[in-house]
Amino acid sequence: MKIVTWNINGIRTFKGGIKQALDSLDADIVCLQETKVTRDLLDERSAIVDGYSSYFSFSRGRSGYAGVATYCKDVATPFAAEEGLSGSLTNREGSVGCYGDHQEFFAEELRLLDNEGRAMITQHRTAYQNQTQTVTVINVYCPRGNPEKPERKHFKMRFYKLLQCRAEALLKSGSHVIVLGDLNIAHRPIDHCDPDNTGGFEENPGRKWLNGFLHHESKQNISVEEEESGETSSDSSQGGKFADTFRHFHPTRSGAFTHWCTLTGARQTNYGTRIDYIFADRSLATEQLVAADIMPEVEGSDHCPVWGELSCTLLPSSQTPPLCTRHLPEFAGKQQKLSRFLTKVDRQSAKTEAINDPLPGSQEAEKRRRENMNPLGAAGSLNRKKRTFTVESVIPKGKKGKTSKPLAKPQQDSLFAFFKPKPTNVAASHRVTSSRNSPTFLHTDQRKVPSITSEDSNVASHAKLTGTKTTIECLTTGGPMTSKSLTFWKSMFHGPPPPPSCKVHGEPCVLRTVKREGPNMGRQFFVCARPQGHASNPEARCNFFRWVGSKGKP
Ligand code: ZN
Repeated sequence: MKIVTWNINGIRTFKGGIKQALDSLDADIVCLQETKVTRDLLDERSAIVDGYSSYFSFSRGRSGYAGVATYCKDVATPFAAEEGLSGSLTNREGSVGCYGDHQEFFAEELRLLDNEGRAMITQHRTAYQNQTQTVTVINVYCPRGNPEKPERKHFKMRFYKLLQCRAEALLKSGSHVIVLGDLNIAHRPIDHCDPDNTGGFEENPGRKWLNGFLHHESKQNISVEEEESGETSSDSSQGGKFADTFRHFHPTRSGAFTHWCTLTGARQTNYGTRIDYIFADRSLATEQLVAADIMPEVEGSDHCPVWGELSCTLLPSSQTPPLCTRHLPEFAGKQQKLSRFLTKVDRQSAKTEAINDPLPGSQEAEKRRRENMNPLGAAGSLNRKKRTFTVESVIPKGKKGKTSKPLAKPQQDSLFAFFKPKPTNVAASHRVTSSRNSPTFLHTDQRKVPSITSEDSNVASHAKLTGTKTTIECLTTGGPMTSKSLTFWKSMFHGPPPPPSCKVHGEPCVLRTVKREGPNMGRQFFVCARPQGHASNPEARCNFFRWVGSKGKP
């Protein structure tokens, strides 16, 4: 049984075809977050995918906001499905149940916590060692703690509480439980590109919650200080009831990030965070977990997919739960695709496949794994060509002793090429600095940015200019200037002044505009054109900064 989670930053990421993308992820259960699909926007193409049943949770408030979806292959048809964590959205048969103790929540609060389309629960039957067991999959898109909106920080913490309440109640009822999705928090310093710059890494309440939710599986997982202080013992009662499946297999791998700010090009320098996870209850993790890893090669979103594999075999339900999108009135009757009549054959072939399944770690399994990394088909491989660096090569110097390969010189062209195919990235990228409390990253609603063009003038920017002792907070652009109008103005006034070269790299700078309200709003400035990265990374953006019109001293 293989499961994948991916924050897709809008279902349009699958513009090459949803079925093709799902198939190439090669998982029985694919959990997506930030679909940006609300009930009004759900189309048949997304709802009805041949060979899968799908389950959507929609935001009840803003259209095109948040949203999660779980796609189950026909071999993984769940026997129950439920939207939300609290039960407040459920009054029908086929729901999951087991809500836990809601004493500390107000009814209205529960409704609000489930109102943004952030959780989908599916319940599956599986066989393990000739025993039938239940596995409940909780697909969540946890809220981001916006440092500018204290009420959202509170909302985020309450969401975590409710998630834990439900997950532990289901576990207590005898089901195995998998919690997966975009948790919007990097767990340990190793999961963050710049943990020292977050304003009290360990004090973050979301991180504290996660420490309690997760079991401290091994000493390798614990920081040196903790180990030296003797705080960690082999006492198995330490920590929570769930295991981080990625760290279970890769306890010390650094630079293993799942999310990057694509607006600042931070993916090119692997300046990111690991905030997407698959958590499994401890007994499931220790007994049935076969492998788990991240898929940073897969582009298309500002997050990458994460996968995990269990040794148990899925036992599909003979009918889909009422929540399945096939039963929505506008799609009912359109479901009679060929595969519906071939269910039995499908299952038979699935059985055969299970028997022929390669041993984990075998060459065949590795080949399959590699083949799985490109869900976007040809487009994906094109994208991959320009990513010539490896994870290893971009770890900031000083953090890791050896840097074996030099970082490929980032080219401005390829940076913009990366943005170009997906202007929708802009809308969600304000989430980038989620859960970091970094004082140098503030957020505005970048939905107002009309387009990202190959001209530099519209690229939103977060800039930190420590070297010049100037900290510019939230320099986002988004003026109405498009490349067309820019060309026009260039021809009228012989163009803007030529960009200065940055001092460190000697390369032409990019022009940006302050969008944030304040005395400098609308002012333009030049910064280094390179992608954002760790301060110690010489290949990343340097601290060059100059206001347009000022002479600037060399
Ligand atoms: Zn530079």
